[in-house]
Amino acid sequence: MAAHGITVLGSTGNIGVQTLDVAKHLGLKIEALAGHSNMLLLARQILEHEPCLAVAANAQKAAELKKILQQTGGKLPEILYGPSGYELAATLGTVQTVVAAMVGMAGLEPVMAAARAGKRIALANKETLVSGGCLVTAMAEAHGAVLLPVDSEHSAIFQCLNGKTSTFAGTAKGIRATAAKTVNASIKKIMITASGGPFRGWSKAQLCHVTPEQALQHPNWNMGQKVTIDSATLMNKGLEVIEAYWLFGIDLDRIQPVVHPQSIIHSLVEFVDGSVMAQLGSPDMRLPIQVALTWPKRVPSNFAPLDLLQVGNLTFEAPDRRAFPCLGLAFAAQKEGGTMPAVMNGANEAAVRDFLAGKISFLEIPKRIATAMDRHQVIPRPKLEDILAADREGRGEEA
Ligand code: MG
Repeated sequence: MAAHGITVLGSTGNIGVQTLDVAKHLGLKIEALAGHSNMLLLARQILEHEPCLAVAANAQKAAELKKILQQTGGKLPEILYGPSGYELAATLGTVQTVVAAMVGMAGLEPVMAAARAGKRIALANKETLVSGGCLVTAMAEAHGAVLLPVDSEHSAIFQCLNGKTSTFAGTAKGIRATAAKTVNASIKKIMITASGGPFRGWSKAQLCHVTPEQALQHPNWNMGQKVTIDSATLMNKGLEVIEAYWLFGIDLDRIQPVVHPQSIIHSLVEFVDGSVMAQLGSPDMRLPIQVALTWPKRVPSNFAPLDLLQVGNLTFEAPDRRAFPCLGLAFAAQKEGGTMPAVMNGANEAAVRDFLAGKISFLEIPKRIATAMDRHQVIPRPKLEDILAADREGRGEEA
């Protein structure tokens, strides 16, 4: 495969690390790496991949990175920091693909910049579409940017649809809308699978005393802390429903979450004629990452293939919406639309942070989100400033 330039935003996070692993296997050129605060790891990645640009969260972190690199005696890349640095990394002329693997709302503005620059965007940051889906998809369409899902469920749907939807359907204005309409007419529903997380089958009473350590024990997937807690509350599935709504242009009432504890089927599409397509694979994020980086080509991967005989059984059940109200809150937020999903997402990020810090209980996470949503006055057609303000409001910060 021909080497092409890549920027990895959030390279020191879980998806970022796995992306670099896949990029190395594929022989892709890394042009820019952006991390947040783990400068030791970022320095190691720079020495290995030799990007021309590196970005850190702030001036202090950038100085720390420079110091570490100077001690190694290696060639220094240009080192920038903060939003302007992330924006440059997302828009470099030598870059074809931007992997958006930052955690949370921090991904929105760099993704908007990459969309404005017409890049291929391998999107691992779901909060970007949850909060700013209307802006990101419109920007991508206007500038011929392509959104390629990295989330395993959306990669599955994308593959079941053979890439014939979302912005991949066309790189010119208007084609996406037409393609989405055609695809929409042939789809009966999308089934998004969920592992159910570590507390599947638990009652509300049992969930009262859950600790962060218990919630961080995901049965199948190796992921970062935020998404692991979201998996335990089922908010992760709620965010993914909204993500699917924007990526595939499909109505909310045709998106059905299904609990599938083995995490082997990554999602399914049922067509109007009754045919159901599913994508299967080992629960290894390197697969959806590789699909996004090589699409529409398929090339051999370097990790263990799926062994169905060893898996044995595939089972399915309905999610328990009473014990896990976050799923319903996400549907409600997107149904309301406008700035409501941004408030929900901001409230969730703050609640997860406080739960991890031991400040609130597990069951307070959905309560906090519901309270923030109740208080919010929706702006139906938000601009970027409205979405950022709604996000702050959801977090309980000054608007
Ligand atoms: Mg997922």
